[in-house]
Amino acid sequence: MKILGIESTAHTFGAGMIDGTRILSNVWDMYSPKKGGIHPREAANHHVGVAGGVISQALVSKPDAIAYSCGPGIGPSLRIGMLIARYLGIHYKIPIIPVNHGVAHLEIGLHSTKAKDPIAVYVSGGNTQIIGMDNGWKIFGETLDIALGNALDKLARDLGIGHPGGPAIEELAKKGKFTEMPYTVKGMDLNYSGIMTHARRLLKTRSPEDVAYSFQEHAFAMLVEVSERALAHTEKDEILLVGGVVKNQRLKKMYKTMCKERGAKLSVVPDELAGDNGAMVAWGGKVLFDKGFQIKPEETNYFQRIRVDTDLAELFKP
Ligand code: AMP
Ligand code: MG
Repeated sequence: MKILGIESTAHTFGAGMIDGTRILSNVWDMYSPKKGGIHPREAANHHVGVAGGVISQALVSKPDAIAYSCGPGIGPSLRIGMLIARYLGIHYKIPIIPVNHGVAHLEIGLHSTKAKDPIAVYVSGGNTQIIGMDNGWKIFGETLDIALGNALDKLARDLGIGHPGGPAIEELAKKGKFTEMPYTVKGMDLNYSGIMTHARRLLKTRSPEDVAYSFQEHAFAMLVEVSERALAHTEKDEILLVGGVVKNQRLKKMYKTMCKERGAKLSVVPDELAGDNGAMVAWGGKVLFDKGFQIKPEETNYFQRIRVDTDLAELFKP
């Protein structure tokens, strides 16, 4: 069965096709704001502009179903993906599968790494969550304010090193020295705004390299700490890293060390499936379709604030 997946929750418009368990294509185009954070209308305009090209590249043959990210995300961005999915569903006379974007990150992580029952760490531009399977996906811990990717992007903006910020900060950090920063872990949750404010202030007295390095060391250590606590609480022995931020080599190394010390297995989603992309949505769609979930094109809808434990079947009940 061939499924075309459409991703448009935030900065990236992506489309990818799978056939059974195989990925046939995965194409995306990312919107980078010239100044400031993501502007919802500009992101949506970007998606409108690139959608035709991205979809024609990804659509390698006639699909049997269309999957699209129905949330969580930015309203105007979500709306573009939903409308394209609806149109393609009507055009091909095929079913539609709405997919929870966060769950798509988790499912492609499981599929690509063969992880079985991990504590999943989902770190991206908009999310930072520690998740596990417990009669469905459950959130065990999360950021109480901003996401780690968002914090890295903001810090990079202050440094004038462009968007996305994560890779630029990673590069800078390689030449930095350590300086103390706030470290805020509250049980299973964490905060990134305190360390953000501190890092910004520190830029007046320390080099960008030192700030980048120290920010990474503290922010990543906080995440590793709550992940380790989740392993201990749940008695699971496997970590799965998903989302755009896990492309960071330093983050992977810190997890490697923690997992080795605990005798836990570490799985990391491959880089090309880590950031927002259409193939993960197609795969997320397949997982749902196999459980009997599909809707008609005219039933498509989107939800800005759903979480990985939201029951989509309930939301889309006619
Ligand atoms: P996503 O929202 O899953 O597409 O991930 C995008 C986020 O990943 C952005 O906030 C990027 O700054 C971040 N990111 C991408 N590459 C890296 C990297 N090498 N290190 C840290 N963060 C990264
Ligand atoms: Mg994402």
